[in-house]
Amino acid sequence: MDRESLLRSLGARLSDERVLSAIAAVPRERFVPPSLSTAAYHDTPLRIGHGQTISQPAVVARMCELLELAPTDRVLDVGTGSGYHAAVLSRMCQHVFGIEIEEQLALRASRSLLRAGIDNVTVTHGDGASGLPEQAPFEAINVAATAAGQVPAALEQQLAVGGRLVAPVATSQGECLVLVRRLPGGLRREQLDAVRFVALR
Ligand code: SAH
Repeated sequence: MDRESLLRSLGARLSDERVLSAIAAVPRERFVPPSLSTAAYHDTPLRIGHGQTISQPAVVARMCELLELAPTDRVLDVGTGSGYHAAVLSRMCQHVFGIEIEEQLALRASRSLLRAGIDNVTVTHGDGASGLPEQAPFEAINVAATAAGQVPAALEQQLAVGGRLVAPVATSQGECLVLVRRLPGGLRREQLDAVRFVALR
């Protein structure tokens, strides 16, 4: 698949035009290893080293839609990996705070983002399961690695009132996306699509 066909195929399934524009604005080939650049516009995850993968474009698109981003939002991205998902998020918000547990990936993501001309993402090396309390609260939190049982409480606690969080969660029923909203009265959690991500460590 090439870039045009990927955008056409995603466009047919997306209801939020801004998400499609954000995906169209990010050169995915800059976030995959050079040996895979010809596969950059296939709608599949790809290996990025250290046993990790860059997320599938259709899944990135779906998660971005669920986050209903506004241009003034500050977003936390847990499991930044290649930096691709963070780059797409950055086109729809004010700033993305990425956190990645593999130091080499965190460094590489920072470089790829800079080379792609993206200057509103900062990537920190660390354990994203505890979030980034010094920058909280966030209007949106995106998690790209599967938590066992439930969304880590530290992440839910770092959501602003009105904030949205999307994360893959594995339970005895399987693995699915969970959408959490912090309403004035408390948290509301919804289980959505079946997905497959690497495990949150
Ligand atoms: N969003 C990424 C997908 C990366 S795959 C992209 O677009 O490329 C998930 C990533 O989560 C991996 O890079 C893995 O190293 C990272 N990860 C796993 N557990 C983590 C944790 N506790 N804190 C931060 N990152 C974690």
